[in-house]
Amino acid sequence: MKPKFLITSLTGCSGCIATIMSLDVSPQLLERSKLSYFPFMSDIKTIENIDIALIEGCVSEESQIEHLKTVRKNAKKVYALGSCAAFGGILNLSTKKDAEPISNYIEIDGIIPGCPIPANLLGNCLIRLIENKEIILSEKNLCDSCPLRGNIEHDFDYKINKLYPNPDEIVSPEENSECFLKRGILCLGPVIRDGCEHICIKKGIPCEGCMGPVSKDFTANIVNFLSLVKLSKDLKGYDGIFYRFSKPKFNW
Ligand code: SF4
Ligand code: SF4
Repeated sequence: MKPKFLITSLTGCSGCIATIMSLDVSPQLLERSKLSYFPFMSDIKTIENIDIALIEGCVSEESQIEHLKTVRKNAKKVYALGSCAAFGGILNLSTKKDAEPISNYIEIDGIIPGCPIPANLLGNCLIRLIENKEIILSEKNLCDSCPLRGNIEHDFDYKINKLYPNPDEIVSPEENSECFLKRGILCLGPVIRDGCEHICIKKGIPCEGCMGPVSKDFTANIVNFLSLVKLSKDLKGYDGIFYRFSKPKFNW
């Protein structure tokens, strides 16, 4: 029997849902599963007997909590789809809105991180879910297989004074294979989960951490890492490093 899916969205940019719809494996997914609830594509409003629920977006409104609980009650498995649902996400940079991960309100069975989720990772996870298998996330950090890693072992004794390279320094790893940290540019690769295939790094941009941490405490990992490198005074006061994808507390 085809597994019944629910895909729903809270507060977010719908980037992860757009990624689902543009996946190469999308036709295969539609053929092998039944989309029971997906407001982006269908008018069906009833939520019942769901096998797999995928929830995108963070909780930022009181009214979303009831919807979350209804989904949890009616679904065998619930996954946080993307970094907003998993960690709170980019809305954490707002000073006016709360951005909470869904696991603050309901028990979840796992996360599929990314902002948006890298297409290959998402396609593989969805196929595993359709086949009634657990999703597999890397337990290694991004540096482990980074094309800029070279032969160095990180001792983190770097002076970091930039968040991004200058426009004329944005070049591929083939053109400059030196680790961003050695260039004095902040890269969160040491504390971020591998699995995105180094999308940004291959384009000449350092990692901002959208895949989240390998271990559960996002902010503690980043603070520990930043305490090892020598951050310039300007960067020390920049909240965006700490709160770009998560506030200090979340449970999953
Ligand atoms: S710090 Fe960044 S650039 Fe350096 S090896 Fe790690 S992921 Fe690659
Ligand atoms: S390199 Fe970092 S910010 Fe870019 S997609 Fe990968 S985890 Fe996300």
